[in-house]
Amino acid sequence: MIDHFKPCIRAIGPPQAKIAFVGEAPGETEEQIGLPLVGASGQEFTSMLQDVGIERRHCYLTNVLFSRPPNNKLEAFLVPKGELPDGYSLPPILPALYLHPSLVQEVDRLRAELLALRPNLVVPLGNTACWALLGRSRISSIRGVVAEASLLPGQKVLPTYHPAGVMRNWSWRVVVLQDLLKAKIEEEFPEIRRPERRLFIDPTLEEALSFLDSARSCPTLSCDIETAKGQITSIAFATQRDLAMTIPFWDRRKDGWSYWTELEELTIWELIAGLLSSHPRVLFQNGLYDVQYLWRIGIPVPGFSEDTMLLHHSRFPELPKSLEFMGSIYTNERSWKSMRTQHGASDTKREE
Ligand code: URA
Repeated sequence: MIDHFKPCIRAIGPPQAKIAFVGEAPGETEEQIGLPLVGASGQEFTSMLQDVGIERRHCYLTNVLFSRPPNNKLEAFLVPKGELPDGYSLPPILPALYLHPSLVQEVDRLRAELLALRPNLVVPLGNTACWALLGRSRISSIRGVVAEASLLPGQKVLPTYHPAGVMRNWSWRVVVLQDLLKAKIEEEFPEIRRPERRLFIDPTLEEALSFLDSARSCPTLSCDIETAKGQITSIAFATQRDLAMTIPFWDRRKDGWSYWTELEELTIWELIAGLLSSHPRVLFQNGLYDVQYLWRIGIPVPGFSEDTMLLHHSRFPELPKSLEFMGSIYTNERSWKSMRTQHGASDTKREE
């Protein structure tokens, strides 16, 4: 074994720990002391734990790698595809760069460690830990969202930024604090709890008309439009926190891309116009975008009085305010934007 592949630290934490944090690899201080997360980024990590009231001594701390990369450069432990043996199955950690085959046993060690511990929650810190636990490393789009580990089926994980990333990008600190606050709740139980919702898509005309009719009396009507090429492609309404319907107008599955016949569409727009122009309390996310689209087709929304993006921004001006980010800190939904496959970025509504 090449010298720098030699493990120089061990994991630490009580065997009954409910929460495990997984870092990347030891640095100089970790190598000297023989434990993970004790150097500069480890100190920042401890300070963030303190800020949210998590006791470091109650946590299990480990790393994907127990060996220290030369000059702390992970790239020294990575190889291009051409150097991989037959049967190598791990995805790349960095674009076109794979974990050195001699280090694959480290991932097996991590799995065995977590299997022995079986904590309620594992928090991967940063890209490399996410790569090991989830097989995905786009930390900014998966952080804050509870998911199941691909490394260990049934294991709940909640990724967040690495403390070294926080030290390079201070605005992430407050985001990590939000994720740790969520972790403090999630560490109390092992299962993934998703909210139950009744979401109706592809309605019949009768279903759409009946939903629009019932929406007139709900206390707050939430509304969101999707657009493409200057047109409204669908509109969604929620009448309760767990009840919503999406009414499509475009349908790429059909010739001519129209979901409705002309007469049906006119009937539906008339009902939508009546609903939006008379409902006393309408909520949007970045509604200035939606209402100008609706205004252009002759639908005023005088009851537009709530805007989740503006409410969030007025409370936490330092935080990002996209729906994806807000979903990650306020809900237990999956990261739905990363599940989208059909629409390109040009179809995406701007929320920041
Ligand atoms: N960074 C990590 O990911 N782990 C450590 O142990 C130290 C720094």
